[in-house]
Amino acid sequence: MKIDKVETFLVRWGDVSQPAEAAFGAATAVVAVHADGLVGLGEASPMQGGVASLAVIARDMAPALIGGDPLDHAVMLDRLLHKLIKLGPDGIVTGAYAALDIALWDLKGKALRQPIHKLLGGAWRTRIPFYASIGGNAARDVDGVVKTVEARLEAEQPSAIKIRWDGTRSEIDRDIKGDIAKARAVRRLVGDHFPLAFDANNRYSVGAAIRVGRALEELGFIWFEEPVEYYHVKAMGEVAQRLDITVSAGEQSYTLQSVAALIDSGVRMVQPDIVKMGGVTGLMQCAALCHAHGVEFVPHQTQPAIGNAANLHVLSTVMHATKPAELADGWSRSADTFVNAPRPDGGCMVVPDGPGLGLVVDEAMLARRRVAVTG
Ligand code: CA
Repeated sequence: MKIDKVETFLVRWGDVSQPAEAAFGAATAVVAVHADGLVGLGEASPMQGGVASLAVIARDMAPALIGGDPLDHAVMLDRLLHKLIKLGPDGIVTGAYAALDIALWDLKGKALRQPIHKLLGGAWRTRIPFYASIGGNAARDVDGVVKTVEARLEAEQPSAIKIRWDGTRSEIDRDIKGDIAKARAVRRLVGDHFPLAFDANNRYSVGAAIRVGRALEELGFIWFEEPVEYYHVKAMGEVAQRLDITVSAGEQSYTLQSVAALIDSGVRMVQPDIVKMGGVTGLMQCAALCHAHGVEFVPHQTQPAIGNAANLHVLSTVMHATKPAELADGWSRSADTFVNAPRPDGGCMVVPDGPGLGLVVDEAMLARRRVAVTG
C-alpha cells in the first residue's frame, strides 16, 4: 500500500451558516489519510479546536508520510515524533501523532477488511457499559446539579455517573463545603447503590483533597478524579496513597513515560486519552503498562465520533475492564456526520464491527461541515 494524500480539516458542529472562523473550538479536528483508494480517519485532541495539531500534520508530518506504506505506520510515526520532539512532546505534537495513528489503524482495518479490535487481538466484549460524564458543576448550585444529573439519567440511562467540577483553572479550594454538599445531593438522588464518580478537575490542594476524598468515601463514590494539579505528580500520588477511595489521573499525560511517572507516584487508576497520547497504539501500550503494574486502565474520552469509536475498539480488547467508558456532554454533536456513531443503548455502547473504526460517513453532510486547515 502507498499513502498518496493526507488531508486536515475541521468538521463543524451545529449551525453551518455561521462564518468558517466560528468552527474553531466548535468542531472535530480530523485527519484523512488516503492510500490505494481507501481513506482512514483520525482525530486530534480538541484543545483550541485542535487546529495547532492539524497544522503540524499538514506542514511538518504529511510530506514525510506521502509514499509510505500504512502498514509500516508505527515506524513512520515514531520517526516523526522524535524528529519534532523539540516542538514539545506534550500536547500539540502528540495530538497530531494520535490523529495519524488512529487514521492509519482505520486504513489498515479497511485494507484488511477487519475491525480494529480484531487486528488488536480480539474483543472480550462488544457492548461496553458507559458512564455519563457531566461537566460544569462548579458553576451550578446544589439544585442545579441535581436537576442536570436527573436529566442525563433520564435521557441516556447510563450505567454510572461522573460529576465534573470544571472550575476556574487558576483557582483552588474555592468551595469545599459546597462541593461536598453537591456530592451528597447527587448520592441522595440516585440512591445508595448507583455507581458515582467525582472529578475535581485539579481544583484542590492536598489537604482539601483529603477532606473531600473522605466525604466521598462515606458517600460510596467509586473514584475521585484529578484531585490536585496534574503537574504536581507527587502530590497526586500522596492523595492516592492516603485515601481509601480510588484516585485517578492521566488525562493530561501525553506520553507513556508520564503515565509511568504517575504510577510511580502511587496513582492506581490511569486515564490516558486516545486523541492526546499515541492513538490506538499509545493506548494499547498504556494498557500493557497498567497490566504490568496492577493499575486500572480507564481511558478518558470526550470526543463524539472518531475518538469514541477508536476508544471503544481498544476497550473491547482489554481483559480487566474495571470501570465503564466515558460518554461526555454533547456526545451527539457530530452524530449527523457519521451515520452509525456509537450512542447509548441500554447503559452500554456497542463497539462498531465494520472494517477499521467501522464508522460510516455521511459524505454530503461531511462536505457541508468541512473547513480545511492547512499548514
Ligand atoms: Ca477529568
